[in-house]
Amino acid sequence: MKRREFLKGAAKSAAAAAVGASAATQLAAPAIAQGKLEWRMVTTWPKNFPGLGTAASRLAQRIGDMSEGRLTVKVFGGGELVPPFEAFDAVAQGTAQMGHAAAYYWQGKSKATNFFTTVPFGLTADELAAWVYHGGGQELWDKLYADFGVKPFLAGNTGAQMGGWFRNEIKSLEDMQGLKFRAPGLNGEMYRRVGVNVVSLPGGEIFPALQAGTIDAGEWVGPWNDLAFGFYKVAKNYYGPAIGEPGSGLECTVNKEAYDGLPKDLQEVIRTACAAEVNAVLADFTANNSKALEELVTKHEVQVRPFPDDVVEAMGKAAQEILAEFEGADAITKEIYESFVAFRQRMLAWSPLAEGGYLPLRARVLGA
Ligand code: CA
Repeated sequence: MKRREFLKGAAKSAAAAAVGASAATQLAAPAIAQGKLEWRMVTTWPKNFPGLGTAASRLAQRIGDMSEGRLTVKVFGGGELVPPFEAFDAVAQGTAQMGHAAAYYWQGKSKATNFFTTVPFGLTADELAAWVYHGGGQELWDKLYADFGVKPFLAGNTGAQMGGWFRNEIKSLEDMQGLKFRAPGLNGEMYRRVGVNVVSLPGGEIFPALQAGTIDAGEWVGPWNDLAFGFYKVAKNYYGPAIGEPGSGLECTVNKEAYDGLPKDLQEVIRTACAAEVNAVLADFTANNSKALEELVTKHEVQVRPFPDDVVEAMGKAAQEILAEFEGADAITKEIYESFVAFRQRMLAWSPLAEGGYLPLRARVLGA
């Protein structure tokens, strides 16, 4: 090789190395220099699914606005970046910095996650927020997720859910025996223990199964989301409220290393934006559920019914058994269970006196 050609080549390599170096610098120290970070949020919901997907998008928007664009969050619907039920691992591994889901989807990692979404005969939406923010729940949740390198925040609540859609009227516990019913998680387990034939199906498969007669009944969320799926077309008996899901919390998870690396004010932006969503999501569900319920009853002739007393009693007994089994769990799960149950015990005196006491009085004067 002639000296001149060699020099030319060397210059090219040096230039390439320099480009490589500057690209690497841009990746590693992005945007911190310019004060701008771009994060990804993976979710378990279809993008912009009413109430749930829209909550993730609004949270991302809120973080961008509150930080004046210093931290922007790009939202991925379930399956867009990773499959829905891999969202937690994606955040733990840093594939995405944030996730939006319901904690009980991760009960395969720890049964204790159920307490941060909902458990049968558990807490209402208000009570769950009270436990997380002022009853020691957040500290326990932090402890549980720290092992996975994840920082959790409460980021919404669906409020009271409905018990489900039944083709035939349920007059007593007898009518529930062997009934094929879609219900996941501990809620499903409660039904199973009172003689129901429980099946687990993703949301999108409930309607076709009900239509085909593969299942006799199924639950999803409440009037707003249920109306959208059209369950009333094949089942007219709408039982509620749900006793298995009295108020399901939503979570925002953040990769802990990414979170710890943020300046204090951006950490506070995330914390505050999540807290704002707790109220915003519940208000969204409350407003839209009431509208949808009216439409279901007046336009689609749906029969809204309470579960018969013997069904409630049997399910209550099953729920007690299910929770009691947490006594034998690992240390952190037991600690969370004990905190939750002690908090619920205090609520037994207060909540029936507060909203629970007021609502029958209002109905007595104004009608149901
Ligand atoms: Ca449900």
